[in-house]
Amino acid sequence: MVLPVVAIVGQPNVGKSTLFNRIINERLAIVEDKPGVTRDRNYAQAEWLGHKFDLIDTGGITWENGHIEEEIRAQAEIAIEEADVIVILTSVANHLTDLDERIAQLLYRTKKPVILAVNKADNPEQRAEIYDFYSLGLGEPIPISSVHGTGIGDLLDRIVSELPRDLAKQDEERISFSVIGRPNVGKSSIVNRLVGEQRVIVNNEEGTTRDAVDTPFVDDSGTKFQIVDTAGIRRRGKVYEKTEKYAVMRAIRAIERSDVVCLVLDASTGIREQDKHVAGYAHEAGRGIIIVVNKWDLPQKTSSSGKEFEQTIREELQYLDYAPIVFVSAKTGQRIAQLPELVKMVHHNQTQRIKSSVLNDLLLEASKLVPTPMIKGKRLRVYYMTQVSTKPPTFVVFVNDAELMHFSYQRFLINQLRDNFDFTGTPIKIIARKRK
Ligand code: GDP
Repeated sequence: MVLPVVAIVGQPNVGKSTLFNRIINERLAIVEDKPGVTRDRNYAQAEWLGHKFDLIDTGGITWENGHIEEEIRAQAEIAIEEADVIVILTSVANHLTDLDERIAQLLYRTKKPVILAVNKADNPEQRAEIYDFYSLGLGEPIPISSVHGTGIGDLLDRIVSELPRDLAKQDEERISFSVIGRPNVGKSSIVNRLVGEQRVIVNNEEGTTRDAVDTPFVDDSGTKFQIVDTAGIRRRGKVYEKTEKYAVMRAIRAIERSDVVCLVLDASTGIREQDKHVAGYAHEAGRGIIIVVNKWDLPQKTSSSGKEFEQTIREELQYLDYAPIVFVSAKTGQRIAQLPELVKMVHHNQTQRIKSSVLNDLLLEASKLVPTPMIKGKRLRVYYMTQVSTKPPTFVVFVNDAELMHFSYQRFLINQLRDNFDFTGTPIKIIARKRK
């Protein structure tokens, strides 16, 4: 689902991250329902009175050692680029500053709604001081205290009232995929190739602004695809692109909106930490994954170099053992046409449903192969297995005691599923439940 985006901008020390945490805490329960997914603290989902949105603290994204002028420019760029609603945060403790005015000027050039909040208005005297801030020309300032929580409800009401109502609904028939990777691995070259080779649907029905960031196309068989965040991939030379945190945040947002993630590696530089970080996120988020090794025209190849590179990938990204690997060159076009085919295959695998009767035959066979584990004298009994959802395929196993479902046995069951059905490219989840 595409959520509207709200960005907080403001000079250092006005309290952006405190406000960010305040807003996030209104919905802690939902934030924490994805176990194991470590969220970047600059970016999170929030909710107010049933309205969900993504919240970005631009202050946390920009680089630490940058010049202040450069930093606020980057913040404003990110906000103008990404957000549907922008909150500029100031503080009565600083009074109105040149930097506040500078940020306000940067924001004049956007047509997006800008909300002016004045923080640290902790008591009535301080609240009376907010009138100076009218001179920013951004409308009525909203006094808040992020520390005490006062005024936050009013601010959230304003934010919610400005959220766009008509965000494009994800077309269920379209397979959406993203092209993710470090700078310079060749993402935009790959996307340009793809877009050049496919029948791109230029004039799409929805016609909303948000749709323009994604590129829909159809393949020869009539399957509809959508490349997520194409605009972001192809855009060049903005100040904010220098920041790794921003790049990672952008990747995470794209992953969340994708069925399948194409993780691009550079054949000439190998695997780096940032690749692993993003790969780990895609895995935990349950997305389909294809590992794309680009610039395959560059290395001096022998008959075994493909195998060697594959081995390195399997060692470095062990948990992605289910992900297919494809060696491409955006420069020569080699195998780029296979990408949509692979995406389609992975999408098929991640959406398939296996009948319970078939699953229970598999359980029976599995129990003959390997005895269920015994912990402290108590043996795991597995009664029944059923698939409860897709994307990723998720199976509930009813057992005598969920505590006895050891990781290694879970792993064994996943391998049995993979041996018997084609789940190439998709993670599989198993949940153990005590049978009542
Ligand atoms: P992005 O930052 O990931 O979008 O990377 P770009 O698509 O801008 O590519 C970065 C650089 O790598 C550019 O100079 C490209 O021309 C080059 N490049 C991209 N793909 C290939 C490839 O397959 N082979 C070679 N030799 N160079 C490539």
